[in-house]
Amino acid sequence: MEVGGLRVNPFTMGGMREKQRCDWAKAEPNITYHDTEWGVPHHDDRALFELLILEGAQAGLSWTTILNKRAGYRRAFDNFDTRRVARYDARKVQQLLEDSEIVRNRLKIAAAVQNARGLLDVQKEFGSFDAYIWRFVGGQPIQNAWRSLREAPTRTAESDAMSKDLAKRGFKFVGSTICYAFMQATGMVNDHVVTCFRYREATAAQLPPALCRSPKGHPSGGAAKPGRLPYRGKSQA
Ligand SMILES: [Zn+2]
Repeated sequence: MEVGGLRVNPFTMGGMREKQRCDWAKAEPNITYHDTEWGVPHHDDRALFELLILEGAQAGLSWTTILNKRAGYRRAFDNFDTRRVARYDARKVQQLLEDSEIVRNRLKIAAAVQNARGLLDVQKEFGSFDAYIWRFVGGQPIQNAWRSLREAPTRTAESDAMSKDLAKRGFKFVGSTICYAFMQATGMVNDHVVTCFRYREATAAQLPPALCRSPKGHPSGGAAKPGRLPYRGKSQA
């Protein structure tokens, strides 16, 4: 059976459901996203660009809304191919404004194009966006230990610095709270609560290759294979 685009063995579904998770991951599509991507260190520029755009698009909306539109976003934005997005012209932007599978907000769409251009400049200067963005946490995930996500901040000195520097480079929709959400998503900070089964596993996990480099024409990125979810399954470690 399929859950959020992933093939799941129905006999293990019960076990998956009983696992303790962060409060926001109570239903799909949040569960699969939480279990496989959120908080896992991301080092692929395409995946980092995608999350930067999606976190900006979320402003004022729920993350669930964005996840539900994710396949639409990948299709509409050429699978977040930065070079392509950087070349979008007024006609393409108009086309995107009429696309009901994404958030139809002129400023957010313009920001995606602007940020693609900014990202190409950063790649020229630092070699990769990955090398640039991880500098804001010294290259290693910040390990927190929250009992409840209510304890987690919505911005930090690191996200303030990231926001300020991105803004200076012309990036849009990169306020400090958006930057902090990006840092949580990309594993720059580990904000899984300590009781969550992903707390120890997220930073040790690797992003499934399918999520790093989705082949063209397959905007879902290809499903993870059954039994190949990127967590280890044993919780006594
Ligand atoms: Zn969690």
